[in-house]
Amino acid sequence: MDTRTLASWINVAQKAFNYPWETSPIHALARESVPQHAHGPLGWLLKSDINSTWALWYINGIVDTAAYEIDTRLSYAHFYREVRDALQEDHRGTPWDEISHLAKVVAQTAWPEIEFRRSIHRRKLTKKERSEIWSSQPNPRCYLCGYLFTAAARDRFLWVPDAPQVTPPIAVDFVRPRGLRSGDLLPQVDHIRPVAIGGETSMDNLRLACGWCNRKKSSHIDLYGTPSAYAGTFDHPNMGRISVPRPLWVVRLVKMRGRCEDYSGCKANIDNAELFVAPRRLSGAINPTNCAVYCDSHDPWRNQRFVGAKTYAQNFQKSRF
Ligand SMILES: [Zn+2]
Ligand SMILES: [Zn+2]
Repeated sequence: MDTRTLASWINVAQKAFNYPWETSPIHALARESVPQHAHGPLGWLLKSDINSTWALWYINGIVDTAAYEIDTRLSYAHFYREVRDALQEDHRGTPWDEISHLAKVVAQTAWPEIEFRRSIHRRKLTKKERSEIWSSQPNPRCYLCGYLFTAAARDRFLWVPDAPQVTPPIAVDFVRPRGLRSGDLLPQVDHIRPVAIGGETSMDNLRLACGWCNRKKSSHIDLYGTPSAYAGTFDHPNMGRISVPRPLWVVRLVKMRGRCEDYSGCKANIDNAELFVAPRRLSGAINPTNCAVYCDSHDPWRNQRFVGAKTYAQNFQKSRF
């Protein structure tokens, strides 16, 4: 690892932090490439998520899809032609077949979203469909974090008459405080491909997620959908003050890592265990560059992670940023 590269990169970043509304330090930082080491082991996810954001902006920047969503008389052929004309302007002198090819790729990527938004409806699932989703796995777990649903949660999900409320837990994970709200522990039907970008309410696009993950994930599809600082700080009774990561990061990192990272070659993964996020460097904040995913038995914070729900509520201070 080249420590000098890291130091000079941070120096350039520092000027941009100090003068965020001046153009020259921002241009200087834009010319830098991020040193490999700074991304951490999840660099692939950090890069992919920024790329998908740029790809969506690029596509919508060629032809604004909003007009097509509203005016249902506008056809795909019309959309394709508009995309092709805009690209031709952009790439003067490029052979026609190359332009047509790019236009086809762009139009075919954007069109399903337009079509879906035209007919937007979040269809309510029937009782039969709910039980079909429930019985599609032997032991239903949250597909995002591996949380195992309780029998009480199942009864509520399947609308069993007189099913009692699910009792909130006495202790919560301070990194993922699930259980502060009653709906956190209940299975919810989630769209793998979000409704907002055209995901359909069909069996193969649906999974069970715990209420907490589903609420925090919302319709976000990348790590950058939230501000970059931490969610807040927690005064841990034994560990002192610790920053609590953004909930969206926790959901995305656990799901995308998907397995316990213990060196022993642990077999725990999202389909057979609940997984937890802990920092790789205990001195550092849990952010996307510094986190690891563990099962309960390999979690370095297993003895400190769960704190009384009341303690959590009292000792958590939301970030002001
Ligand atoms: Zn979950
Ligand atoms: Zn493990």
